[in-house]
Amino acid sequence: MRLDELTANGTHTLTVCNACRYCEQYCPVFPAMEQRTSFARVDLAYLANLCHNCGECLYACQYAPPHEFGINVPRTLAEIRLASYEEYAWPRPLGIVFRDHSVIAALVLVSAFSAMMLLVARLTGQPAPRAPSGGDFYAIVPHGAMVAIFGAVFAFAVIAMAVGVTRFVRDVAGGPKGPQPRTGSAWRALGDAVTLRHLHATGPDCVSGEEERRPWRRWSHHLVLWGFLLCFASTSVAAVYHTVFGWIAPYAYTSVPVVLGSFGGVALLAGCAGLWVVRARRDAALGDPSQDGLDRSFITLLFIASLTGLALLVLRESAMMGRLLAVHLGSVLALFVTLPYGKFVHGFYRIAALWVYERGRT
Ligand code: SF4
Ligand code: SF4
Repeated sequence: MRLDELTANGTHTLTVCNACRYCEQYCPVFPAMEQRTSFARVDLAYLANLCHNCGECLYACQYAPPHEFGINVPRTLAEIRLASYEEYAWPRPLGIVFRDHSVIAALVLVSAFSAMMLLVARLTGQPAPRAPSGGDFYAIVPHGAMVAIFGAVFAFAVIAMAVGVTRFVRDVAGGPKGPQPRTGSAWRALGDAVTLRHLHATGPDCVSGEEERRPWRRWSHHLVLWGFLLCFASTSVAAVYHTVFGWIAPYAYTSVPVVLGSFGGVALLAGCAGLWVVRARRDAALGDPSQDGLDRSFITLLFIASLTGLALLVLRESAMMGRLLAVHLGSVLALFVTLPYGKFVHGFYRIAALWVYERGRT
C-alpha cells in the first residue's frame, strides 16, 4: 500500500476508534489516540509503534470486517509501523533496499559473508579446513581481523539504529501533552518493554485467534529477548577477559562466557522456533502480510547464528571447526548488517514510543 493510502486508512480507522472508544482500557494506543482530534503521519507512526499487535481490539470491534467500516486496528497499525521503520531508517535508501528482504535474501547474505570469512581465514590465518587442535578460533581468523571486521559492522549497525530512533523521537515527542508530566518514565518504559506488558491486553496470555489465548507468543518473545541479551553478555565478558586480563579463548565449558553463551544460544533457538510456529498458526487477519519476509528473515538469521554458535562450541576440537566458524561468523555478520533495517528495530521503536507516552506527552 502506498504511503498516502496508509495515512488515509490509518486516519479513517483511528477517527472511528476515537468516536467509539470501546477499547480504551486495552493499551496505551487508545489513551494516546484520545488526545488527538486529527492524525498526521507522525501521529500515526507514534501510535503504530505503541501498538504491540496483541490483537484484542480486532476481536472486540463491532466495526471489524465484514462491517462496511472495515476497522482492523492491529493490521492497520502493523502496516504503518513497517512504513515508519523505512521512513526513519538511516541511510534511508538501505531501508528501502531491505524492505522486501526474504528468507532467500538472508540465506544469500549468510553464504556471501561465510565465503568472505573463509577468504579472510586464508589470507590472514590458517586455511579453515585445517582446524588446529584445542579449538583455537584465533588461529583461523586472527583476533585483530575479527575485531576489525565485527567492530566496524557493529558500530555501523549501532549508529544506524541510533539515528533512526533519534529521528523518530524527535518527530513524535512534540505531540500533545498529557495532564501532567510523569517522572521515572524511562524506567517504566523499559520495564514495560522487557516484561512485554502490552503483548496481552486483558489477560495473562496472548491472543492468537478469536476466543483463543496461548502463552507461546509471549514466551517465545521472552526467550528471544533474553537469549539475545545473554549472548551479548557472553561476548562482552569474553572481550573483558581478552583485553583486560589477557585470558585468551578458547574458554572452558564451565567459564562465564561459555555458560552465558550456551544458555543464550539455546534460548534463541527455542524462541526462534516458537515464533516461527506461532506466526504460522496465528490468525492471519491480525498481521500485515507484507511483513512476512521481514519477520521470517530475522528469525532465520537469528536461528542460523545460534545453531552454528552452539555447534561450534560442541565441535570446536573437530576438523569441522574451521568451516563452522566461517558460517557462524558469516551469519552473525549478516544479522548485524540487517539489524537496522529488519524486525530487530521494532524493540527500540517500541521502547521510544513507550518512553514518550510515559513521560506525559501522549
Ligand atoms: S477497535 Fe473497534 S471497538 Fe475498539 S475503539 Fe476502535 S472502533 Fe471501537
Ligand atoms: S492490537 Fe493490542 S496493542 Fe495494538 S492497539 Fe489493539 S489492543 Fe492495543
